[in-house]
Amino acid sequence: MPLTTNPYDLSTLSEYQYYTDIQVNQMLEISQKSFRKWGKTPLKKRVKFIKNLIFVLTKKQHLLAEKCSQEMGKPLKQAIAEVKKCSLLCDFYLEHAEKFLQDEEISSDAGESFVTHEPLGVILGVMPWNFPYWQVFRFAIPAIIAGNTVVVKHASNVVECAQLLEELFKEAEFPETVYQNLQISGSQVKNVIENPIIKGVSLTGSEKAGANVASTAANLIKKSVLELGGSNAFIVLEDANLDKTIPIAVNARMQNTGQSCIAAKRFLVHSSLYDEFLERFTTEVKKLKSGNPMDEDTDIGPLARVDLAEDIEKQVNKSVEMGAKVLTGGKRNNAFYEPTIVVDVTTDMPLFNEEVFGPVAPVISFDTFEEAVALSNDSGFGLGVNIFTEDIEGIKEKISLFEEGAVFINAMVKSDPALPFGGVKKSGFGRELAENGIKEFVNVKTVYIA
Ligand code: NAP
Repeated sequence: MPLTTNPYDLSTLSEYQYYTDIQVNQMLEISQKSFRKWGKTPLKKRVKFIKNLIFVLTKKQHLLAEKCSQEMGKPLKQAIAEVKKCSLLCDFYLEHAEKFLQDEEISSDAGESFVTHEPLGVILGVMPWNFPYWQVFRFAIPAIIAGNTVVVKHASNVVECAQLLEELFKEAEFPETVYQNLQISGSQVKNVIENPIIKGVSLTGSEKAGANVASTAANLIKKSVLELGGSNAFIVLEDANLDKTIPIAVNARMQNTGQSCIAAKRFLVHSSLYDEFLERFTTEVKKLKSGNPMDEDTDIGPLARVDLAEDIEKQVNKSVEMGAKVLTGGKRNNAFYEPTIVVDVTTDMPLFNEEVFGPVAPVISFDTFEEAVALSNDSGFGLGVNIFTEDIEGIKEKISLFEEGAVFINAMVKSDPALPFGGVKKSGFGRELAENGIKEFVNVKTVYIA
């Protein structure tokens, strides 16, 4: 029977069973029935349930955060911040959904023409463990407000977070089957997508899972959205203000113990600032407190599973064999991996050319802006880039040089309900959040009246 394990002390948290394919098919039928009502419920009424959800989220904040800390090791204060961010997302769509989804008059050669936005039906979400609530909210809330119903296959190591999510929707008095938790394995996902009831799928996760899910959907001409990995550069230009840059650099790499798709994963620093940056960055990274994620003052918890920490260890060790040098950190203890800074990293090393999903910062120096752009773009991923400079007007003219879904200047790349979120290249396609996100799973229907 599958188990969930606390990555801090490796104790067993729960045993569970995957739903059978028969149970899953029944749940899809129920979701389809529910869609027929929910999709026809006026938007104003649909949105009211979101208010209840904010109330329940706030009430259950601690329970949710603790479960997340236990199942995937996120430090408690960061888990609480994640739950609060889910409320912010609800607030955002509460305020803007009607405007985003209203009919749009369009002038054409018709007497009257407009587009109207209609839900597609039952949408599948396949979600990762790293932000077990936020990732689900980011997918499910706009999809549900737009009139779809959703079924969610969550990651196997956050089974209880997944169950709590389903309970939240029930407690917020959504019609019970608007949101359903599909407790299934990755290998059962193909069957679900192939069920004619499913009209689209959104996956946040690895390239491998994304490719599998999107190809199954594409074979049946079903829509997919993919939010995959990233290896964002953090570029410190010659005129950057290091007092402002250093604390952001630490947070951009070490938040969530480095397990974020949009974390800064390759630090590129102008040669004139390289020594000072390295010294100050190292000093700050050494101050981070590793420990029990349930303790309020812990900055760095364990990675979500021992095998994930082993992967990081391999990437660092292989890079060191190839000539890289560890300045601080570099050791593993079960699921814990020390906050680590590595120098002498070259583009052929795993620390540069693979996604490193843990608290490891490779720092590389460059001499010219062109070199920084080339290094930044030298990645299979294209989620975002962080650029630090005092010359805002100058950098604005160069934004098109970066092959990314997002360019953040003097700030770390982050997701914000008001801003579209997503990548290019192997980071995926489609967008979440903002107006773009709520329109991913709607039929943009053209109406032409002669
Ligand atoms: P993962 O292994 O791909 O898992 C993600 C989800 O996909 C889980 O629910 C998983 O189920 C399922 N899955 C795995 N293999 C599958 C398959 N062949 N078919 C269908 N579903 C499958 O990814 P992860 O390790 O949980 O998450 C880390 C990755 O996600 C990183 O690459 C990270 O950058 C990326 N990520 C991207 C974003 C973004 O917004 N772009 C955000 C967060 C994370 P099981 O758990 O049961 O295997």
